[in-house]
Amino acid sequence: MGICPFCNGLQTEKVFCSNCSRAMEDLGKISDYFDDYSPYMETELLRLEDGYSNNFLNNECVHLFHCYQCGNEQTKRIKE
Ligand SMILES: [Zn+2]
Ligand SMILES: [Zn+2]
Repeated sequence: MGICPFCNGLQTEKVFCSNCSRAMEDLGKISDYFDDYSPYMETELLRLEDGYSNNFLNNECVHLFHCYQCGNEQTKRIKE
């Protein structure tokens, strides 16, 4: 298993909202959400990140980011 800088607190680079350019909050790995088997989240993520399931095979850690300014949520792939 690789090391994701976001999971390990090593990442200092901010992720900015594509909507309002505010710094976004890292909500954590998307794979953590899959463990909950939430139908809503799964549908949302499928829509947001097409082909997300392939990411886990490519040693990429996909994080969900939330903007408290405008409520936007987006995903970002992080190379491990
Ligand atoms: Zn991560
Ligand atoms: Zn925003």
